[in-house]
Amino acid sequence: MNDPRRAVTEAGRRLHALGLSPGASGNISVRTPDGILFTPTGRGLDELTPEELAALDADGAHTSGPPPTKEVPLHLALYARDPSARAVVHLHSTHAVAVSCLEPDDPDSCLPPLTAYFLMRAGRTPLIPYAAPGDPALAAHVQAVPFPFRAALLANHGLVVTGTDVEQAVWSAIEVEETARLHLLLHGRRTRPLDPAQITDLAKRHSVHWPARPKEGEAA
Ligand SMILES: [Zn+2]
Repeated sequence: MNDPRRAVTEAGRRLHALGLSPGASGNISVRTPDGILFTPTGRGLDELTPEELAALDADGAHTSGPPPTKEVPLHLALYARDPSARAVVHLHSTHAVAVSCLEPDDPDSCLPPLTAYFLMRAGRTPLIPYAAPGDPALAAHVQAVPFPFRAALLANHGLVVTGTDVEQAVWSAIEVEETARLHLLLHGRRTRPLDPAQITDLAKRHSVHWPARPKEGEAA
């Protein structure tokens, strides 16, 4: 989809219809040649129009439209660490929020590599330490993650993903929510996650994002 304003509003309606943006929660942004478009603060993702998005310049200064979501610093931090990211989706979807309240078994990923599609669409999903919504500390926590990622859970809050366009970010967000649901369904059972050889094989066939974290003392 070429029109970024329509891409954002249609993604918002779709995510809301799937029940993934309770109340007025959730926000979406997309990079454009002029800067970044954000969903406005205080509006449900189902009630957006293409004309009512907030426009910011590349440095994050508000240039037109209504006030943007208060999560602008979080989105800007994700764009800053990954130049290939062209869109960001943040949701308070129920299962992702539930997992964000658990202590992770793996310090590098609070979701295990259960399925191939989770690896292909989301990959290693770190738990970003808690900061209040809109607090710039959340952006600092994003910057501090010591390996590349395109999906994360915000502790006691929700999920956030990046994509090369809005549609890809939506697919990743849905995959993270579904994997969180599977993780909870399987809780307490003896699971069989994909093993390192299967992950390496997927990495060869697809653009799989399950990077190894540099070991202590190794150059990143
Ligand atoms: Zn939020």
